[in-house]
Amino acid sequence: MDLNQSFVDVFGHRAEQAFFAPGRVNLIGEHVDYNGGHVFPCALSFGTRLLLAPNDQNLLRFRSLNVAAAVDLPLDRLTSPLAKGSWVNYPLGCIAQFVRRGYRLHGGYDLLFWGDVPAGAGLSSSAAIEVVTAFAFNHLLEAGCSRADLARIGQQSEHEFAGVSCGIMDQFASAFGRKDHAIYLDCTTLDFEYVPLQMDGVRLVVANTHSPHKLDSGAYNERVAQCREAVEQLRSSSPSLQNLAELDAQRFARIREAIKDPVALRRATHVVAECQRTVDAVRALKAGDLLRFGRLMNESHVSLRDDYEVTGPYLDAMAEEAWKVRGVIGSRMTGGGFGGCTVSLVREEAVPTFVERVGEAYSARTGIAPDFYVAEIGDGARILDI
Ligand code: ADP
Ligand code: MG
Repeated sequence: MDLNQSFVDVFGHRAEQAFFAPGRVNLIGEHVDYNGGHVFPCALSFGTRLLLAPNDQNLLRFRSLNVAAAVDLPLDRLTSPLAKGSWVNYPLGCIAQFVRRGYRLHGGYDLLFWGDVPAGAGLSSSAAIEVVTAFAFNHLLEAGCSRADLARIGQQSEHEFAGVSCGIMDQFASAFGRKDHAIYLDCTTLDFEYVPLQMDGVRLVVANTHSPHKLDSGAYNERVAQCREAVEQLRSSSPSLQNLAELDAQRFARIREAIKDPVALRRATHVVAECQRTVDAVRALKAGDLLRFGRLMNESHVSLRDDYEVTGPYLDAMAEEAWKVRGVIGSRMTGGGFGGCTVSLVREEAVPTFVERVGEAYSARTGIAPDFYVAEIGDGARILDI
């Protein structure tokens, strides 16, 4: 793909600057970021590129090689969302944060996006397009934002312009990714640690279910609300509680009866256990105990299936078929759920068998041909040479 040529084809002049931000895959710690827990994502080598150049039209002209809809916006129309569902809301919501902070664009820009993260597959193409936009406008406006600021700007865009009450994990991973490392992130304090993924002879395989059902913003926001409800009910016995992640298993066992709503109780059960699993998994990885890491991944999937109820038949079929294959150390859904991808640790020599057997069995069960990517773990948002 010659993106410079595409830019010329679309806008009739050359791009002047180029930027990149990656998608991410979360290894463990699912649906805990908005509950204040630890997560363990890594940035992919796939991501979204943004090429841009000034124009003399006083317009921001948004184009994507992934989506047909083109949008031109005058410079005084950058602070409110477009109709729900427009892809431009993701980048626009980031630009709006700069405008609201008082930064002004002194002329129009032509913007061309292209991403190789499959959209809607739980690998956070949304964070990639947000973070690449925030990174680029921070650069253009010389706003001096830190990477953590850029992650927050992306999250704010997703909340206000895309209508998803997401946590900070996706944008943080896209902003902070480091090659061959995962990021152990405390979503309350944003303290983090890069942990090398030393996995001699083991590969990270991402399997795309291509499920027709996706996690929509409604189902996601409902989970967020159910967790808040659980915290609310627990406050009757623990008034200072802010986040479910503050509870360890013992304390939760003592106070869980305060949650009267059975659904909220199941949601909280997942979150508390998943927080503990994530801590344990990182400890296991650091100790070189990949087998334990893999078992915790499997347990994470089961908890997301039974207590959080966000897996659905497609992700369950993919994980169950993976668990059957010799050489699979662990496998679980990743991302928000319902559709999207699983992530598996697979011994290198078993990868071809994995792809063949899981692919065939999944197709037989669902009628859908999946895709497999052997993930390369890459760096976070950056400027590209043009
Ligand atoms: P995920 O983040 O799991 O990929 P989302 O539903 O959160 O799925 O975000 C996908 C949406 O983000 C797409 O439907 C589109 O609106 C927007 N998007 C992501 N990448 C691009 C891109 N390169 N060009 C245009 N829109 C994009
Ligand atoms: Mg997303």
